[in-house]
Amino acid sequence: MRGGQLCPVIEPCAFTARPIPIAKHENRSDMTTTLPINIVAFIFGACIGSFLNVCIYRIPAGLSIVHPGSSCPRCKTMIPFYNNIPILSYLLLVGKCGTCKAPIAIRYPLVELLGGFFALACLLSFGPTLHGLVVFAFIATLIVVTFIDLDHRIIPDTISLPGIPIFFLAALVIPTMTWRTSALGILAGGGSLFVVAGVYQLITGREGMGGGDIKLLAMIGAMIGWQGILFTLFAASAIGTLVGVSAMIRSGKGMRLAIPFGPFLAMGTITYLFFGNAIIVWYVNMLR
Ligand SMILES: [Zn+2]
Repeated sequence: MRGGQLCPVIEPCAFTARPIPIAKHENRSDMTTTLPINIVAFIFGACIGSFLNVCIYRIPAGLSIVHPGSSCPRCKTMIPFYNNIPILSYLLLVGKCGTCKAPIAIRYPLVELLGGFFALACLLSFGPTLHGLVVFAFIATLIVVTFIDLDHRIIPDTISLPGIPIFFLAALVIPTMTWRTSALGILAGGGSLFVVAGVYQLITGREGMGGGDIKLLAMIGAMIGWQGILFTLFAASAIGTLVGVSAMIRSGKGMRLAIPFGPFLAMGTITYLFFGNAIIVWYVNMLR
């Protein structure tokens, strides 16, 4: 209920047919979603996650992401639809191919689970809105980028370059974004990593940051603006340093160990999408 209305509106409850005062839920009047809708969102996200698995596997190989259908990498048997149900099939088949019993990587149900989780998180955070759908599409893109970067140490231009204009336009449905903050985000994202990469190369004489990271951060900037880029760079560097230093110590390779930076950029960005405003408010208050 909005507009400072004081008298509670009485509506019959669909289950008991008894009137229930809506005023009880007034804080979440726009956002209230019911359990069935939440479940549908999760299943939708898990199905998208299943498609993301296809993208992660096929885009770096230069294969079509729509044709042909999925098949077992070992015995090449086409996977029938009833063995291709997100998460459930993996559990029912106990992680093995239905035909040749080759083990299926845990990565597949994990990406499906991530899809379901983030679809639900977007619904609960942004409501059943275009804003929520756009944020979910963006996170789905980041999931694909993250796993491709982990597997191949590349961020395909076929994702990041078209992503810049696509998310520049998509960001216009986000209430806090304008075309200016988005355009500045692209410049800040592309520019800042360009400078960092240049300085790194100047000091160490080696190329540390791939050009792929620069294009990725330009795409991220289109979606979350220059303020988001500041946060994401800070968060990604902090997480990346922690993980990087511990990995260097464990591997004994020191500074020569190359760690993909894309996954950290994705983690920083997703944190900003859900908690950015809250974190900035907290930080500004702390400085006072
Ligand atoms: Zn098989």
